[in-house]
Amino acid sequence: MSQTIQAIQVDITIIGGGIAGLWLLNRLRNLGYNAILFEQKALGGAQTLASQGMIHGGMKYTLGGVLPNITETITQMPKHWRSCLAGQGDVDLSRAQILSDHVYLWSTASLGSKLTTFFASRAIRGRINAVAKDKIPPVFQNKAFNGKLYRLQEIVVDVPSVVSALAENYREAIFKIDWQHASFVKTNEVEALQIQHNGQLLSIQSQRFIFAAGEGNENLLQQLSITQPKMQRRPLHQVWVKHDYPHPLYAHCIATSSSPRLTVSSHPTPDGKWIWYLGGGLATKGVDQTESELIARAKEEMKALFSWIDFSQAQWGCLRINRAEPKQGDFMLPDSAYAKSCGHVIVAWPTKLTLSPDLANKVIELLRQEQISPKYPGLNSLLAALPRPEVAQAFFELIDNS
Ligand SMILES: Cc1cc2nc3c(=O)[nH]c(=O)nc-3n(C[C@H](O)[C@H](O)[C@H](O)COP(=O)(O)OP(=O)(O)OC[C@H]3O[C@@H](n4cnc5c(N)ncnc54)[C@H](O)[C@@H]3O)c2cc1C
Repeated sequence: MSQTIQAIQVDITIIGGGIAGLWLLNRLRNLGYNAILFEQKALGGAQTLASQGMIHGGMKYTLGGVLPNITETITQMPKHWRSCLAGQGDVDLSRAQILSDHVYLWSTASLGSKLTTFFASRAIRGRINAVAKDKIPPVFQNKAFNGKLYRLQEIVVDVPSVVSALAENYREAIFKIDWQHASFVKTNEVEALQIQHNGQLLSIQSQRFIFAAGEGNENLLQQLSITQPKMQRRPLHQVWVKHDYPHPLYAHCIATSSSPRLTVSSHPTPDGKWIWYLGGGLATKGVDQTESELIARAKEEMKALFSWIDFSQAQWGCLRINRAEPKQGDFMLPDSAYAKSCGHVIVAWPTKLTLSPDLANKVIELLRQEQISPKYPGLNSLLAALPRPEVAQAFFELIDNS
């Protein structure tokens, strides 16, 4: 017996519920588009909840002692996020939390004279400031610390609360997809997403499909035989350390290269402690190390950098995760988001949490150029029966107290 097909028309269908998809859903629905989102596992579950939550404005790239050609785009991002967090931006993040309104830069001993002069230069002053003796945070208040400390006015967000806020704003438009019972079909050169549910076949026809599935974009592109753009992965092997030390830290340790030797962010755990989450050079170089090799390396590094803090009773662990981005010839660090139209599909990678607002701007500009405006108001009631995804738990919410 042939199944009846129930056609559902929407303006935009987003695939992937990380920061990219959720931010886009919020922006597009705020603009009046009937946009819906499908997530296959849990919201925020991949790179987004593994990130360190630093909303940086490009100053991190100055660590080599030169002011590179930082795009206007990335420098605007911290301000954009702040207005959203204050409930006054183009996306409402008033329910999300800021973990810190600044990030430190520190060096272990004296900085090279080139970097010292650079940090004192007019180009940098006001953005990176040396920390006065009476303003030194508890973590560095020890006579064993003889390096230099700078403060950078960039925020760190509590990523789980950002994901929850974005999801809560438009819960009714977010659905779970099981690809065992769903596929793209092409009719009259236009893709439709067909979903089998409860004996019904829903055919979702959408003015545009947006692939915002992080690493999952590769497979989605293959499904539709789209050969360009290609994706690249940049793997990280992060380390976390859970301890009784009561102070959080958000900081980059400056080395001689343009990228940090170590980046530390701190995340509260349900039992009232802090996890220090360690990235930067430790995590990029750690990709080829086993978990036990990397933990041994991290212990040495923490001893070298924080000889006055006792980590002997701490709990240690690692997290392997890939960053997913469009393939670029020279493996450059991206400083703006990526969105490209491929027929009725827009492929999107923010390339950084920070750049999610830029990604939304780029997608909206593509829709404007292609004259895609809101056309199908109101959520079809047939969608209401579809399952809903949970918000994923961050790894630091799952570590037990043993
Ligand atoms: C360790 C680490 C630290 C980082 N720290 C920072 C930082 O401090 N600051 C910063 O700006 N950036 C940071 N980043 C980068 C940032 O996290 C990512 O650029 C950003 O989270 C990417 O978001 P996304 O939504 O594109 O991808 P993801 O967060 O990976 O989300 C993709 C979603 O799509 C879903 N999905 C996949 N395939 C499908 C499918 N076929 N159907 C439906 N759903 C699908 C997945 O389940 C997932 O929920 C960090 C990244 C890592 C890995």
